[in-house]
Amino acid sequence: MDVAKALQFIEQVTENADKVQQTTLAEILSQNGGTEYLKRFNLDGPDAFKSKVPIVTYEDIQPFIRRIADGDRSPILCAQPISDFIISSGTSGAQGKLIPVNKQEQDIRVLQASLAHAILKQHVKGLDEGKSLRFMFIKPDRRTQGGLVARSAITRFFKNDIKNRADAMTTTSPYEAVCCEDIFQSMYTQMLCGLYEREHVLRVGALFASGLLRAIRFLQLNWQNLTHDVRTGMLNPRVDDQGIRGCMARVLRPEPELADLLARECDKDKWEGIITRIWPNTKFVDTIVTGSMSQYIPTVDYYSGGLPVTCTQYASSECSCGINLDPFCHPSQVSYTFMPHTAYLEFLPQDPDWSGSELVDLVNVEIGKEYELVVTNYNGLYRYRLGDKFRVTGFHNSAPQFRFLARRNVLLSIDTDKTDETTLQGAVESAYKVLNESKTVVADYTSYVDTTTIPSHYVIFWELLLKDSDGWPSGEVVEQCCLAMEEAMDAEYRRCRLADKSIGALEIRIVERGSFEELMDYAVEKSSAAFSQYKTPKCVQLKPMVDLLNSRVVAAHFSPSPPHWTLEERL
Ligand code: AMP
Repeated sequence: MDVAKALQFIEQVTENADKVQQTTLAEILSQNGGTEYLKRFNLDGPDAFKSKVPIVTYEDIQPFIRRIADGDRSPILCAQPISDFIISSGTSGAQGKLIPVNKQEQDIRVLQASLAHAILKQHVKGLDEGKSLRFMFIKPDRRTQGGLVARSAITRFFKNDIKNRADAMTTTSPYEAVCCEDIFQSMYTQMLCGLYEREHVLRVGALFASGLLRAIRFLQLNWQNLTHDVRTGMLNPRVDDQGIRGCMARVLRPEPELADLLARECDKDKWEGIITRIWPNTKFVDTIVTGSMSQYIPTVDYYSGGLPVTCTQYASSECSCGINLDPFCHPSQVSYTFMPHTAYLEFLPQDPDWSGSELVDLVNVEIGKEYELVVTNYNGLYRYRLGDKFRVTGFHNSAPQFRFLARRNVLLSIDTDKTDETTLQGAVESAYKVLNESKTVVADYTSYVDTTTIPSHYVIFWELLLKDSDGWPSGEVVEQCCLAMEEAMDAEYRRCRLADKSIGALEIRIVERGSFEELMDYAVEKSSAAFSQYKTPKCVQLKPMVDLLNSRVVAAHFSPSPPHWTLEERL
């Protein structure tokens, strides 16, 4: 889509945001009013929608989704046939969530991506003349019992649409490499292509910052082999995917001078600014660093030498609705303008005093206030609590702009994993069972994500209470506790850990007796809360609190091996 057309479209829908929302709702209801789900509410028009249709969570609609997944083709949630499912990484027990989708929804996603790309083009002259080194990965497809394909949103996007995408022509990653399920082969090939094209690369990125940092780490570990391939023009035999080998035959050529230059840069002790050293014409880093990804901003800055970072879109399995109209703003200032044509969007106020049952319409949200997004979309979600929380920062015409705050209940997240308090508690209890065999109990615990390692890893701080003086658990026992915790994490965590290797081994750091009391003293001093109100946070994020605990560590142990995970667990 050309820039002028895209900007015109954005202006048009945002100037009439309310009207577009009403039309969107009317269209969804006229298409889907006859579905089993909606018929139950006897809706006589969009007005009745708000009063009669309940606000739901995934668990409420899971029985309907289950039937579709099991093969029931009747119009249960949606009149148009459900073509497939998106597997969401969101927290919903151990299984992840199955989100039904159809063609219409896919068209909206593609349009959103084109709009976001047009906005980038507006800001970067010659964007499409330079190359994009974007590390993209898919996950294996699954099939539900009823035979429908289920895959992550990004896998679906790449498999269905990457060839048609506006920016597909400019990416250095061959389609065969992006669609290879073997992460090593995929990453190796994408990196190799990026190295060959070093002079032409204008932006470097990945969907999320965690992915980009993995790519840098990969280069750190594999640069000798990669530069060998550049030197000889021969592909590493570990890459044996025939599709990749076929397309790489057209790319590979011996370039000893390039290999020398790359090897010189990679061999240096300091990797600060490596992105611009290897890809000297990079103008910006294209990756999401909002929400839980903001923890990676300092590391991304370190490797990029402080290049601007663009976060262009907010999207989830349930809907793709946010575009950043000012992609070169500072990451801390990123706001996503919610496009009113994408879905019917309502907002649950996060104000503790709010007791009404009415949700707030898109155009009526107030600047400075916080809300959880509630979505009604074309593929059968009605007033669905998505779980993402936002703060309103302004408006573009009459469409509000939101700063992403957090996923509801998520304590720890490194990549696509999202661990909530219940899961963490369950995991800690599994470790207690291992520990019970020694003469120790855990007096208190908390957690955080250590981003100083790549991949990052979960750290659990434990303060131990010895039942008798010789009861200190051995290193091996604590390692088994780490593993027990990992085994008790949800499927997405274990998949990231075992298959993607995007999460490092979980670590337990045992702190001195009294450390948690000091933590409490610090927290109470810094807030107006009374001692009696204090509860140990199950995750610490503030640097002084993390530093305090780290300065009291007496022993640290890692999980000795990854937890189990099988594809079958997902559905
Ligand atoms: P999934 O449904 O598995 O594709 O995960 C989507 C989730 O990723 C969203 O619900 C958000 O929690 C998170 N997410 C997506 N886009 C952004 C963004 N731009 N900034 C922060 N978090 C995001």
